[in-house]
Amino acid sequence: MGPQPSSPDPALRNLDALLPDLTSLYKDIHSHPELSMQETRTAGLAAERLRAAGYEVTTGVGNTGVVGLLRNGDGPTVMLRADMDALPIKEATGLDYASTATATDREGQTVPVSHMCGHDMHVTWLAGATKLLAEARSSWRGTLMAVFQPAEETGEGARAMIQDGLFTRFPKPDVILGQHVMVGPAGTVAGRVGPITSAADSLQIRLFGRGAHGSMPQASIDPVVMAASTVMRLQTVVSREIAAAEAAVVTVGVLQAGTKENVIPDEAIIKLNVRTFDAGVRTRVLAAIERIVNAEAAASGAPRPPEITPLDSYPLNVNNAEATKRVGDAFRGYFGSHHVHETGPAPASEDFGSFGSEWKVPSVFWFVGGTDPEIYAKAKKENRINELPVNHSPKFAPVLDPTLRIGVETLVVATRAWLKA
Ligand code: ZN
Ligand code: ZN
Repeated sequence: MGPQPSSPDPALRNLDALLPDLTSLYKDIHSHPELSMQETRTAGLAAERLRAAGYEVTTGVGNTGVVGLLRNGDGPTVMLRADMDALPIKEATGLDYASTATATDREGQTVPVSHMCGHDMHVTWLAGATKLLAEARSSWRGTLMAVFQPAEETGEGARAMIQDGLFTRFPKPDVILGQHVMVGPAGTVAGRVGPITSAADSLQIRLFGRGAHGSMPQASIDPVVMAASTVMRLQTVVSREIAAAEAAVVTVGVLQAGTKENVIPDEAIIKLNVRTFDAGVRTRVLAAIERIVNAEAAASGAPRPPEITPLDSYPLNVNNAEATKRVGDAFRGYFGSHHVHETGPAPASEDFGSFGSEWKVPSVFWFVGGTDPEIYAKAKKENRINELPVNHSPKFAPVLDPTLRIGVETLVVATRAWLKA
C-alpha cells in the first residue's frame, strides 16, 4: 500500500504532516453532527478551511452548500463533492468522540443526531485534499471546484444546489468526482463502470373506499381489502414484468388503514420504495405500479381513483466509462492493483448522480473501505460479513487509520488524472 516511491505526487508530500489536524477536524465534526439542511456549523468549517487555502468561496448555495474555486491557469475543471449531513440516529459506537447531540427535526421533534453514514469523513477528506492540492498548485494547471453539499440523506441537497445556480454561477466541470466510506477493508477502494448506486423512488398511495359498520360490508367499499390485494399484486411487478437479467426492488414499507376492528375505514395508505439500476426498467416499474394501483381501485369499485404522490427520489448514479477507467488506472498505479476492487452496483442510493446527469458531465463515484482490515478478514473467514455495522447502523464507526489518509489520497490521485503540469 501507499505511494510508489518512484513517483511521489508533490501534492501528497505534506499529507503526513496534515493528518493530526485532519484527525481533530474529523472528531470535531463527528461530535457536532447536523441534520439535513441544518449543516451551518459544518459548512462554516468547510468555508473557513477553503478560504485559508486560497479558494474563492461562495456559501449558502442551496441553503447551506459551499462552493470553493481555485483558478490556476488554463486546463480542465475538476469538481470534487462531499456531502455534509448527519442522521437522526442515536450513536452507539462507544467512541470517546461519539455524538451525544440532539436537534429539532422538521416535525418539531427532538431527535438524536449522529454521523452514522460517514459524511463527516467525506468533509474531512475534501478539506484535506483541497488544502494539499492548493499547496501544490505549481505542479498543475486548471480549476479545482470543491462542493460541500447539504442534505444528501433526504435526496434534496444536490438538486437544491443545482436550482440555486450551481450550473450557471460556477464554471462547468470536465469531470465530477465523489466518494463514500463503506464497509470494506480500510486501505482498499472499490468502483465500477456504469451504474454504481441505484435509482430510488418513494411513493405514497392513498386508496379511497367507503366506510361503514363492520357488520354491514355490503354498505362499504372496503379500502383494507383494496390495499391488501394491491400489495399482493405489486409483488408481480418484479417477479412477472422484469427479465431475469434485469434487477429491481419494490418494497411496501407502510400499510395503514382503520382504527377499530368493527369499523370499515374509508381510506388506506400505502408507502412504497422502488430501486432500479436502469432508466428503462425504472420507467416500466413506475408505470406498472400506477397501472396496478388504479386497476385494483377500479376492481373494488372505488368512489374515486387513488392519489399517487411522489415522496423522495434519487437518480441513478452512473459512472462514465472513460473517466472511470482514468480514475481506476490512477488508483492502480498509486495503491497497487490488489487494493483496487471491482464492485457490483450497490442497491443504496446517492443524489451525487444528479450533478453529472443534469449537467451532462462525466462523473465517477467510488467506495473507500472503512473497516479495520483485521476485523474484516476475520468476519470474512467466519462468514459474518453481514454482521459488520453498515452505514446507518448506530454502530457504524470507520477506523481512522488508514481510512482518513486513504480518502485524501484517492481524491488527490483522481484529481491529478486531470490536473497536470
Ligand atoms: Zn446515508
Ligand atoms: Zn451517505
